[in-house]
Amino acid sequence: MSLRHELERLLGKFGQDSQILEDSVLIGCSEQQEAWFALDLGLNSSSSINASLQKAEMETALQGSFIKLTKALFELNVKDASLLSTAQALLRWHDTHQFCSRSGQPTKKNVSGSKRVCPSNNIIYYPQVAPVVITLVSDGTRCLLVRQSSFPKGMYSALAGFCDIGESLEETVRREIAEEVGLEVDRLHYSASQHWPFPNSTLMIACHATVKPGQTELQVNLKELEAAAWFSRDEVATVLRRNNLSNQQQSGAIPFWLPPKLAIAHQLIKEWVEKPTCSPLPA
Ligand SMILES: [Zn+2]
Repeated sequence: MSLRHELERLLGKFGQDSQILEDSVLIGCSEQQEAWFALDLGLNSSSSINASLQKAEMETALQGSFIKLTKALFELNVKDASLLSTAQALLRWHDTHQFCSRSGQPTKKNVSGSKRVCPSNNIIYYPQVAPVVITLVSDGTRCLLVRQSSFPKGMYSALAGFCDIGESLEETVRREIAEEVGLEVDRLHYSASQHWPFPNSTLMIACHATVKPGQTELQVNLKELEAAAWFSRDEVATVLRRNNLSNQQQSGAIPFWLPPKLAIAHQLIKEWVEKPTCSPLPA
């Protein structure tokens, strides 16, 4: 039995029309050059009892279990997390770009899902990614960690913000830091980047920034942030070590925790802690 037939059989078993296979999108391929596709069964958007029954049936038949995507992204290995992240972002993009924004006509997906085309005026729509800069600010000896009210309880992280139209990355970093904590960036350097599929497809661009010594007084913008504070290298190193314990194991004695290991913010903070000296970064 071909893979397609097997898939159709499974979909049929779970009460799904095999026609939905046409909605699948290409997310990568194996080392043996087998194409990998992702498909949204729409079970999450339908609130019917049917959907939860279908989910339970699938879990049994496929010997798996449904878990929250945000959780899965931090628990899988980097390669699988990246596939899942691509799938989520691409499927959401197709879901919200069903119609041409000029003619209002339905758009049509190409086979791989790399674009959609409006048949009435041939406008091609490509999946979009929004750049977000995430910056760890340091004054040479301490780093700045912040809390947004949307963060999980007790979690602190680096400052983040979307790039505005017309801005360079450098301008975004300088503006965000000035807006949110009232500091002026002295030096800035790029670290790494990571795709993140929530709320829509974003490219997280991680940077280290330093402020001029002696200009470290925070003016926290409480419309944007719940809290912001300087922490010493020792304090952050301690929290990073304890971060490896599960959150449940953390006691009230631990003041806060940091994003999980696979999050780019975690990498950024770890890099700063492990830097042998606190010499200013090159521009
Ligand atoms: Zn159109």
